[in-house]
Amino acid sequence: MQNRAKALRRAAELRERISDYLKARETIPSGRELAAEIRKRRTRILKVLGGSEADWDDWHWHMKNRITDVSVLRQIIDLSEEDARSIAEVGAKFRWSISPYYASLMDPNDRLDPVYLQSVPSSLEYDSKGDPDPMCEEETSPAPAITRRYPDRLIIKVTNQCPMYCRHCQRRRAIGEIDQHTPAEHLQEAIAYIRSNPEIRDVLITGGDALMLDDSTLDWLLTELDRISHVEIKRIGTRTLVTLPQRITDDLCRMLEKHHPLYINTQFNSPVEVTDEAAAAADRLTRAGIPLGNQAVLLKGINNNEHVMKKLNHELLKIRVRPYYIFHPKCVTGTTHFRCRVEEGLQIMENLRGYTSGLAVPTYIINAPGGLGKTPMLPEYLISWSNDSITLRTWENQVVRYPNYEGHLENEAEQEEPA
Ligand SMILES: *Cc1c(COP(=O)(O)O)cnc(C)c1O
Repeated sequence: MQNRAKALRRAAELRERISDYLKARETIPSGRELAAEIRKRRTRILKVLGGSEADWDDWHWHMKNRITDVSVLRQIIDLSEEDARSIAEVGAKFRWSISPYYASLMDPNDRLDPVYLQSVPSSLEYDSKGDPDPMCEEETSPAPAITRRYPDRLIIKVTNQCPMYCRHCQRRRAIGEIDQHTPAEHLQEAIAYIRSNPEIRDVLITGGDALMLDDSTLDWLLTELDRISHVEIKRIGTRTLVTLPQRITDDLCRMLEKHHPLYINTQFNSPVEVTDEAAAAADRLTRAGIPLGNQAVLLKGINNNEHVMKKLNHELLKIRVRPYYIFHPKCVTGTTHFRCRVEEGLQIMENLRGYTSGLAVPTYIINAPGGLGKTPMLPEYLISWSNDSITLRTWENQVVRYPNYEGHLENEAEQEEPA
């Protein structure tokens, strides 16, 4: 009975640890919670663009009807004369394009809406600070279309096209004026490079958005990679789950499932992006046996908040997308208004570990400048160190000494003791 009473006291204490989140999450809607409103906006957008419900399910329709003109955007969301002028002006300099689907996620009256901030051009992009290519991708390409920064894996960029051009894009320099898939002969050379480098066991197909390629081109590329015996796994990088879930067709899934082991990583940055359509697309891929991971980008005004990031990761697990990375924003020209301090990322991590499922805890990453690679950032849990013990701090800040030796010492109880 005493034990039960103790456990109940502890349980109350544990609940208290997340009381702030339990309150905050009510004010952070997911796309699924906003389903009724999103459906209404869809009807309005279809009317503006002259499309049918069947068109809405067709990713080609969305691509043909990408919003690239402020006069169209104005019919979908509420913009002042001044906003409209500014978007037109910035948009003439920096390319933009929003899939009708992604536009349907925007609150028409909120200029701080996370979907608006990620997709609509802003005069803050004129900022000339930062570097167009801080990752030096242009200097780490041993073969056409390839970036190689690690011993056993590399990326192939197959297109510069995307359904929506993220305002925070790290490859803004490559978006240019026109959509361009990588020419077939460059892909051939990339495949030849992989074939002749047997240490490459993991190939990431990315872009742009890799799923902008049609099914038959992707099928060809994956088949070529399947034929290289040292390529153990393949990964596809795509944001279509977020920006154009209609792209995840049954035909695509049937094709992809011929190419296992295949993984897909995507980029959800806000709980609002986790909609019923995104859930259905994730479900189709998961049923095709493809493990899904999320690579969020920490973005000021969008998700640099511990509660928002926690809710995002919870919503992702519900649709079977495993949080994989949170990237610290890079210092890319035109995106510096999204930058945050490292302390903010660390605070987010501090508030995940222990407070929620380990499955909901991604790795927080800073990309070292100069293309030197992804570097994990962790709150400090190891406080000090002596010859035979360490002192650590638990998720709720209990400091404990922990014995550190091989095997078993005589006369020393092998247990954690308060320091
Ligand atoms: C991110 C990245 C990878 C993959 O990194 P993982 O940590 O294995 O996910 C591989 N190559 C390049 C060039 C990258 O930028």
